[in-house]
Amino acid sequence: MKYLVVTSRAPVSHEIVSGRESLKKNVGGVVTALRRLMMQEGGTWVSWGDGNADNRYLEEEYEGYHISRIMLEQREKKGFYDDYSNGTLWPLFHYFRDQMKLSPNGYKKYEDVNRKFAEKIMEHLTKDTIIWVHDYQLMLVPGMLREKGVRNLIIFTWHIPWVASEFYSILPEAKILLSSVTKADMITFHTHLYERNFHESAKMLFGSDEGLKDKTFVFSLGIDVKYYSSNNFAGLPSKALKGRKLIFSVDRLDYTKGLISRVMAIETLIKKFPKSREKFIYVMVVTPSRTSVTQYEELKRELEMTIGRVNGLYSDLSWQPIVYIYRKVSDTLLMSYYRKADIALITPLIDGLNLVSKEFVAASQNGILILSEFAGAAFNLKDAILVNPNDPDEVAQKIHEAMFMEPNEITRRLWALKRTIQKYDLEWWLNSIKNEAIRIHEHGGRDFRSKESAHNSPE
Ligand code: UDP
Repeated sequence: MKYLVVTSRAPVSHEIVSGRESLKKNVGGVVTALRRLMMQEGGTWVSWGDGNADNRYLEEEYEGYHISRIMLEQREKKGFYDDYSNGTLWPLFHYFRDQMKLSPNGYKKYEDVNRKFAEKIMEHLTKDTIIWVHDYQLMLVPGMLREKGVRNLIIFTWHIPWVASEFYSILPEAKILLSSVTKADMITFHTHLYERNFHESAKMLFGSDEGLKDKTFVFSLGIDVKYYSSNNFAGLPSKALKGRKLIFSVDRLDYTKGLISRVMAIETLIKKFPKSREKFIYVMVVTPSRTSVTQYEELKRELEMTIGRVNGLYSDLSWQPIVYIYRKVSDTLLMSYYRKADIALITPLIDGLNLVSKEFVAASQNGILILSEFAGAAFNLKDAILVNPNDPDEVAQKIHEAMFMEPNEITRRLWALKRTIQKYDLEWWLNSIKNEAIRIHEHGGRDFRSKESAHNSPE
């Protein structure tokens, strides 16, 4: 039995920069998790080769498994990735109706590229292969594989929120996409809410979710706790803090992350609690993302104007409330911030999971996690301070409480959180999905599956 993992982005890409070829690792949390599986088990990984030298490495052996790449022309990339995946599906599945572009041409390219993926998968199939497809860029793949007569076990893992049925159904292609996903044998989500919404969508669009009853599972992606709690971090010039509390966040530049609302919460903190002034520094790391999508450029401008306005109002020679860093930071530097931060301020408006919050819990020794109640991770991080990110007064109030929280309470919360992420770590996630897949594979049908062993993520 071998795994064939399918993701839009590859684990590594080959780039030519200033005439020299180099290997770029993809550091995203999902890819890191899947690399672990592939390094343990071997197998094949099918993905899009988006590096400018990837055409030299269409088939490649890498760290114990095989990578097989499909190449996209510029027009295909634009339609599949920019227009439909990121311009239509991403805003749809995060309730951003006004950001959603309806693009028939984008959908056509999405379909073409999903077909390329399905064809590439066929080249590598053997009788015993388990196919594991990931996320919203590849929703048509399970259906296309079944149309080609593939009978192998297909797992489909959904990494972003699944929205309420009446919202999902505004998408012109809602039925065809949902129908394809249901052709998988096993569909996994990060929270029970997304799973419920998925079932409701099936009921609304097809009149019933009967066939799906035993197919869906909730396994919330965990992290490599050992790695994030190790001493693998760079030093920070902590003198610069001058005894002030360090509030920290790191996010991709995305409208779902609540970046502007968060800056407004910092402004509210200063206004509402003037004594907090000069008692903290907020380090806001924002990583460039999807720079070819126009909405993201506008968001960047608006965010930077808001930060500039707040800093302009309150900075003086001895203090500036917000230190804004707009670039990708290495994970060792990230870990130094996690270690040093008194407060992690993670307030997405909505987020499928949010790995950063779990990484912070693993690395921190005495920090406080303030987390949006609308992050998927909040569903098992109940000992965080949960906030509604849309309410700057509430967020400001909670930051203020955190700044003066009793050390005993900080320790109690942090260690409760650490126990949870330890229990539901990356290994747990991989094993849970693997065990279910093996059970279905060996018994040849869902009737044999015990519902008890599934759904063991805490509600
Ligand atoms: N990350 C990183 N460097 C950065 C910013 C982010 O290595 O400059 C990593 C971070 O450690 C985390 C992932 O990128 O593992 C972000 O995952 P998350 O689920 O929090 O958000 P997403 O970007 O997937 O929406």
